[in-house]
Order: sequence, then C-alpha cells, then structure tokens
Amino acid sequence: MGKVLIIGAGGVGRVVAHKCAQNPDTFIEIMLASMTVSKCEQIRKEIKGKTRRDICVAHVDADNVSELVALIKSFGPDVVVNVALPYQDLHIMDACLEAGVSYVDTANYEPPDIAHFEYSWQWAYQEKFKNKGLMAVLGCGFDPGVSNIFSAYAQKHLFDEINYIDILDCNAGNHGHPFATNFNPEINIREVTQVVRYWNDNKWVDSPPILNQGSIHFTFDYPIVGNKESYLLYHEELESLSKNIKGLKRIRFWMTFSEDYLTYLRVLQNIGMTRIDAVDYEGNPVIPIKFLKRLLPDPAKLGENYTGKTVIGNVITGIKDGRQKSIYIYNVCDHAESYKEIGAQAISYTTGVPAMISAMLIIKGNWKGSGVFNAEQLDPDPFMEELNRQGLKWQVTDFKGRLPD
Ligand code: NDP
Repeated sequence: MGKVLIIGAGGVGRVVAHKCAQNPDTFIEIMLASMTVSKCEQIRKEIKGKTRRDICVAHVDADNVSELVALIKSFGPDVVVNVALPYQDLHIMDACLEAGVSYVDTANYEPPDIAHFEYSWQWAYQEKFKNKGLMAVLGCGFDPGVSNIFSAYAQKHLFDEINYIDILDCNAGNHGHPFATNFNPEINIREVTQVVRYWNDNKWVDSPPILNQGSIHFTFDYPIVGNKESYLLYHEELESLSKNIKGLKRIRFWMTFSEDYLTYLRVLQNIGMTRIDAVDYEGNPVIPIKFLKRLLPDPAKLGENYTGKTVIGNVITGIKDGRQKSIYIYNVCDHAESYKEIGAQAISYTTGVPAMISAMLIIKGNWKGSGVFNAEQLDPDPFMEELNRQGLKWQVTDFKGRLPD
C-alpha cells in the first residue's frame, strides 16, 4: 500500500521498524535511516530474523535538510516517521515540505540550548503544510499520543462535555540498574527537572520541580501494580489538550518516580552533571548532560532483563446525559513480553507502536487532511481499533478512586 521512512534507530526507532515490518499489507517498503548506520543494520538483521522481510537502511544527518531532502526524494516514502530527537523536528518538517511528504513525530520541538519545549515552533508550520496539501501529526507516541487519543475517544463517545483530565503514567518495571532512564537520557532529564505546570480555570499554574521541596505528589492505586507515588509533572500534551478539548476546566499530568531515582537525580543535579551549557575541561568544551548520557545505560538496551509493567492512562470526569461521571481509560504493557516480541522494553514499545499506527492511518487514508495536527484533532476510532490489534490493548472502567483536589 505505501512506503515509510523512519528516522532514528534508537529504542523507539527499533519498535517502529519492527511494527511496520509486521504489517506488510500497509508498509510495502520500509527504510530506516539514522546517524549511526550500524544501528540500522543491526535492526535490519533482527527484522529479517523475525519476519524474513528486508528493510532498507541509510545514513542521514537529520539536521542537514538538503541531505534529508535527497534521501526522501530517492526513496519516495508516503510518510516520514521522526523518532530521532526533538532537536531535529523542525529540520525534518522542512525536509518533508520540500520533498512533498507527510510527517509524524512523538515529541515536540526543543531547542538544544534551552531546556524548554512547546508547540509554538511546530504549530507555526500550519500554513506551510496546508498550502502543500500535506499532513503533519505531532506527538504520536503514548504520552503524548495515546493520551491525546484517549481524550478524543472519551469526547466522541463517552461524554457530552469533559471537565477534568488527569493523565497518570506509571512504570512499575525493574531494569536492574541503579539508575537509568527509559528513553534518551538527555531529553528525559531535561523534561523531568523542569518547573511543573498544570492547567486550571483557564490559566497555567506553576508548582516546584519534582526534585524540589514542595513538589506535589500522591499515592495512586494503579490496576495490577498497586499503589505508586505519582508526581505532578508538566507534559507537552497538556498544551494541546487544553486548547482542543471543549469545556475543559483542569488538566494535569502525573508520573511515578521511585525514591531511589529521585535521590540519584538530585545528586546528579546538585553536582552539575545535568547542566546543558558547555564547561571547559582541560581546554575542551564539555556539556555535562551529554557526557552523563554517555555513561548511563542505553535505554534501547535495557530490555533484556526488564521485568514488570507500565500502566498509563487517563482519568476523565465530565457530564453525560446531564449527570457527572468519571472514567479511567488505560493500557498495561509488560516489559518482558515487549522484549520477547521485538527486543524492546515497554517504554520504547508503547511509544513506537502508536507512531507506527499514525503512519498506517495516513497511508490507508483513515487520517486525511492538510496542515499540522495534534492527535486529538483526528478521528480516534481507527486508532483505538489498531491499538487493540497491534499489542496495546486498552480498557475503560468507571473511576471510583480519589485524586488530589
Ligand atoms: P534514542 O536516543 O535511543 O534514539 C534516538 C536516535 O536518533 C538515535 O538512533 C540517534 O542516532 C538518532 N539521531 C539523533 N540525532 C540524529 C540526527 N541529527 N540525525 C539522524 N539521527 C539522529 O532515543 P529514544 O528512541 O529513546 O527516543 C526517540 C524519541 O522518542 C525522542 O524524541 C523521545 O523524546 C521520544 N519519546 C516519546 C515518548 C512518547 O510517549 N511520546 C516516550 C519516549 C520517547 P545515534 O545513536 O547514532 O546518535
């Protein structure tokens, strides 16, 4: 049916490539391109072993727009899936525009020298994609991504009006390392050390970062894995959902962290290892967080001994037929099962599967349109069906628990 170009051969890129290969009716040809071509070769070998399919691989520096345009034009994909780093988003969008191809990513743009992410840079591409008749789907991993789709599904089928959304992200897994991050360490640490924000009564409210005194947290009883301490965190889907969900009064994001994780991170921050500016070391500029990334375990290789599960979902409260109701819509994903299927841990798995589904829906024509879209602006139904088919089953229950006011 179509051709896909995947950019980035890390933990998430491996999952997107495997999942595309598992769906030969949609993805007739697959190319995986990244900075280090040997990582693409390794994934190609694994895919051949599992599915007997051969994929193309290539080197590309996604910050070099002309190199990217040449690659896109020579392969001729219907859609480009960007699972490199947020720093590359705008360059890859520029290349897609020039080569005339649709675009999907899983994380919003962030300038390398400022630890700050927001959609304004990518929303500014709205007219450019519209004028070219192309589609760009932003933030289509799990969260953002499925968390947006869950909200859209609830808006379409379960509520007349949604008032409150709490997204709860729990990783109850154990990788056996004293300290590791589950996706790119640089991006992950920049995200979790920021000032926290949530949307309440039409305005943003700030609260202290998770490592600081006064950070907001509570114990949530997650299905299957039980009670886990969950910290208020700023996450990018809050920005788009607060605009796109009608009637929304408050939206918050919570993520579980263990005491051990917080202690390691606090020490690293206190001694300057999470700094993103260059430090002179014996005459050479060294960026501490980049050096730290070198030392930490590669998230793409955490899967082998990973046990336990992730539980990610939304508690949504609103009005249906004149009455208030609360639901909980969530997915449970098992690290060891993800590893058995495609050699990836569950964080990479839960991110890569939705990214593949977005590309699939664009190729099949279920998702059509010109311009830049967040996932909740598109039809959730075919996406929800594919989640169940592609390894991320979801459930909806009435919510009877309690959340902080
Ligand atoms: P990794 O660091 O494992 O992989 C990133 C890959 O991109 C690497 O293969 C890297 O190559 C490649 N890359 C980096 N810079 C360039 C460049 N200039 N040109 C070409 N390739 C490049 O990260 P993850 O797989 O863990 O994460 C990928 C993305 O997924 C990130 O943007 C992350 O924020 C996002 N994510 C989204 C989630 C969601 O739920 N929405 C959850 C988790 C992650 P090399 O190794 O050779 O440098």
